[in-house]
Amino acid sequence: MARRRWEPLHRSLCAVAREEPHPFEQRGRAMESDSAAPRLTTTPWPRSRGVVHLVGAGPGDPDLLTLRAVRLMREAEVVVYDYLVSDAILGFLNPRAERIYAGKRQGRHALSQDEINRLLFALARRGRRVLRLKGGDPFVFGRGGEEAEYLAERGVPFEVVPGVTAASGAAAYAGIPLTHRDRARAVVFVTGHLKDGSCDLDWPMLARARQTVVIYMGVTRVAEICGQLVAHGLDPATPAAVIEKATTPSQRVVAATVGTLAAVAAAAGVKPPALIVIGEVVALRESLDRQLASIRGRELPRAAA
Ligand code: SAH
Repeated sequence: MARRRWEPLHRSLCAVAREEPHPFEQRGRAMESDSAAPRLTTTPWPRSRGVVHLVGAGPGDPDLLTLRAVRLMREAEVVVYDYLVSDAILGFLNPRAERIYAGKRQGRHALSQDEINRLLFALARRGRRVLRLKGGDPFVFGRGGEEAEYLAERGVPFEVVPGVTAASGAAAYAGIPLTHRDRARAVVFVTGHLKDGSCDLDWPMLARARQTVVIYMGVTRVAEICGQLVAHGLDPATPAAVIEKATTPSQRVVAATVGTLAAVAAAAGVKPPALIVIGEVVALRESLDRQLASIRGRELPRAAA
């Protein structure tokens, strides 16, 4: 039977009981009963063997961790974490957890991706519950897909816990809505750094108007990226910003236009981790930012008991 849920009606401020099951509950049941769903494990994995939790730690502010991430951090036995996972977030770890730093700071890797894959497998095989903690969301430019594939191929049970990706965190904390009915009907996430070190993107697609383009790992190439966009037809007056260390106490937002962003970002000495955001939505920041700033850093009022 459907659970009774109380749902505020924003017009009258009264509450009505919802008799219908919540869509998430329906979905959960459907997935459980779907016997045709493909199994992730390909070979039997003994019950006593370990498991890997691929967990997104969000962009920096510990308040953006999911409850599941915090729960797994408190219970962790061994954690393999990346450079972008901040100390403030590591503070939630079980103090007895063994910590293994996997690195990956601008090409300086403590461990190669292959070594990380093999490490996760070896730990799980030894029966360890492994917490693989990654910045942002594990499946957004985090190579979580590669780790998941490696584990799935070897029959290692794993789960993926989503995190707030840098684009969502940065946009929210900088006052830049990623989509907007009048200004951006689509949002595109791309990486400015390809596997072979090049930056060979689909420029005609990225140069389209009425969309927001968020570029991860592109801040050392702002000039090249903006130059290509303009060469492919984007108006150089299009608002653009670089957001450095988003959602942390050191967040900086450098706003300009596509035509001027490279010079403005260079003058400001912007460094990774940072995102480039391009599109008309960046201009909304001016009207949203002041009120946003007025609440940040303060305790939110407690809900009445
Ligand atoms: N999986 C991560 C992305 C990892 S790729 C996610 O979902 O967010 C690393 C890139 O993410 C950095 O080069 C930078 O472009 C971006 N990034 C991550 N954290 C950031 C932050 N706090 N502020 C700005 N950019 C960030």
